[in-house]
Amino acid sequence: MTFRGHCGTSIRSRQCGIRPRVWSPQHPSLVATQYLARHAYSTQQAESAEEEPLHTIISDTENVQGTFSKHEFQAETKKLLDIVARSLYSEKEVFIRELISNGSDALEKLRHKLISGGGDTAPMEIHLQTDAAKGTFTIQDTGVGMSREELVSNLGTIARSGSKAFLDTLQNQAEAGSSIIGQFGVGFYSAFMVADTVDVFSQSAEPGSPGFKWSSDGSGVFEIAEASGVRQGTKIVLHLRDDCKEFSAEDRVKDIVTKYSNFVNFPIFLNGRRLNNMQALWMMEPKEISEWQHEEFYRYVAQAYDKPRYTLHYRADAPLNIRAIFYVPETKPSMFDMSREVGYSVALYSRKVLIQTQATEILPKWLRFLRGIVDSEDIPLNLSRELLQESALIRKLQDVLQQRVIRFLLDQSRKEPEKYARFFNDYSVFMREGIITTTDQEVKEDIGKLLRFESSCLPAGQHTSLQEYASRMKAGSRNIHYLCAPNRHLAEHSPYFEAMKRKDMEVLFCYEQFDELTLLHLREFDKKKLISVETDIVVDHYKEEKFEDIKPASERLTEQQAEDLMAWMRNSLGPKVTNIKVTPRLDTHPAMITVLEMGAARHFLRSQQVARTSEERAQILQPTLEINTGHDLIKKISELKDSNPELSQLLLEQIFDNAMIAAGLNDDPRPMISRLNELLTKALEKH
Ligand code: ADP
Ligand code: MG
Repeated sequence: MTFRGHCGTSIRSRQCGIRPRVWSPQHPSLVATQYLARHAYSTQQAESAEEEPLHTIISDTENVQGTFSKHEFQAETKKLLDIVARSLYSEKEVFIRELISNGSDALEKLRHKLISGGGDTAPMEIHLQTDAAKGTFTIQDTGVGMSREELVSNLGTIARSGSKAFLDTLQNQAEAGSSIIGQFGVGFYSAFMVADTVDVFSQSAEPGSPGFKWSSDGSGVFEIAEASGVRQGTKIVLHLRDDCKEFSAEDRVKDIVTKYSNFVNFPIFLNGRRLNNMQALWMMEPKEISEWQHEEFYRYVAQAYDKPRYTLHYRADAPLNIRAIFYVPETKPSMFDMSREVGYSVALYSRKVLIQTQATEILPKWLRFLRGIVDSEDIPLNLSRELLQESALIRKLQDVLQQRVIRFLLDQSRKEPEKYARFFNDYSVFMREGIITTTDQEVKEDIGKLLRFESSCLPAGQHTSLQEYASRMKAGSRNIHYLCAPNRHLAEHSPYFEAMKRKDMEVLFCYEQFDELTLLHLREFDKKKLISVETDIVVDHYKEEKFEDIKPASERLTEQQAEDLMAWMRNSLGPKVTNIKVTPRLDTHPAMITVLEMGAARHFLRSQQVARTSEERAQILQPTLEINTGHDLIKKISELKDSNPELSQLLLEQIFDNAMIAAGLNDDPRPMISRLNELLTKALEKH
């Protein structure tokens, strides 16, 4: 629910710390109300409720004609009824969803019959009536109805797979009648969760069929007699148990219908007033839906005030039946939305009837920024939460939806690159999470296609993808190179980038906090290795690749001078470094640190919240200090190390720390301050 006023701006309630109530029937949101008003099926319904004439077909006309014949419920049914009668309070309300679904099924069957056989088009409606005085709840439909035989077999035995599955599950459960009942939905029998007597009046749509009354107290037997005054279709009267009288209160029933059955195809009336006015947009032809319809629908499903920036209307019949609409909100997600525990707003429906409002299982976690609905005929209404988690069907659905969403976003990036860039800017953290958390390499690479980076061969501000990088690669090269740095300036001025220049290789610049971890997890893209330039430099050493010196020999230390200097440095730096060597690849930088698997090392140090001494760090990192013997600073130290060892030591330590900073391996520069002050004092001594 959205509270514009509470938070100052239009933000969802979660950001104000109030848990959202999606579809909240008790507190129908303003948005939903507006939506309902604008989507009224007819102009008549759009009028205010007060002026609307009441329309009901429920009246007390039935009279039993013959004598009752007694029947026993099938053994399994009895067992089910026993359990149903002991259901918990929290799950009782689903009986309304079940009975409305049956009414809707019966109407669908009749429609099918009429289409294939011709015949009158009687009004196709579902009516509900609450009578608080009598303590009854009544539902009547104008559907196919049932003959005597059908009443016996359909309402006397368990045919539906859901109820069977429910019983099977219970066999394995120590405590029968536990809280799983509501998740299964036990179809018609759910009426006995709230009623001590259920009367069914039904007349089949077969021409010349008589009407019947079916009645049971749910204890093991039911009786059937012929009845007059029965309207074609089915009317079910629930004589509510004393502790369930709330279902004879209009407001309570209204809330439940709005929650579960808002999109049912046929008009539902409660005490003469139309309830469901929502159009199931996802079932419509995509091109018939206008932008504003999507906007309104988005606001309803997302409980938000903004607009969708992307809309994906997806329909498939194979491998699964899917009707889905996904929206990406216009508003940038907040830190709160990004948390792994909140954010789900995709609802799961089966043939327009709600199964779950926040269906966390149908999409992989990283796609939780999507809003919308998924409807699949293949998912039974009575799918339990346990089944939702385990079922192969749901995994399949997840795969299909994930692939479709990725493909959609890729299409968008091609069609409207600038819009995609904005989307990427706002939502890329989810993609990184997807790559890091997915175990399947193929899926990692699919999500990887959505990543965008700046590149050393493109102007600042222009983005490129891994595929584009791959297409620019020179024949024979097998690696994709990247460099993680806080921004372009630092990337371009990094010693590692400088060292790479010699290789004339495109480098992707990664500025985001989790880029490095993401690319480490991705490892490969389209058979090409993703390698950070820091690692590449180390790998070159192993390959003993030779590079020509940037500076001429006359401007560098001689080999002997370099050897002497390095011996002195080893001594001075002690255990802080594992190795010191000369690099020909630096120009403006005096030195750089190389570490095998730099990214991983950096991540390791960052994720460990322990303070370490520089010796401990060195133990973990095993760093090599590579020096540029053509650099003035290095040359100067080589000169000064004997005449002014104190200053040389300070300079060397600072050069080392600078190289550690450039490598992103120094996270606390404070210990450097006194040394820097000392150096500054010395710099001013002569003035
Ligand atoms: P399901 O709907 O999964 O088949 P239910 O227990 O809800 O299982 O219903 C059992 C059967 O009873 C239905 O399949 C249908 O044949 C019949 N039935 C229930 N309600 C109605 C109705 N309102 N009109 C016609 N037939 C109905
Ligand atoms: Mg049913």
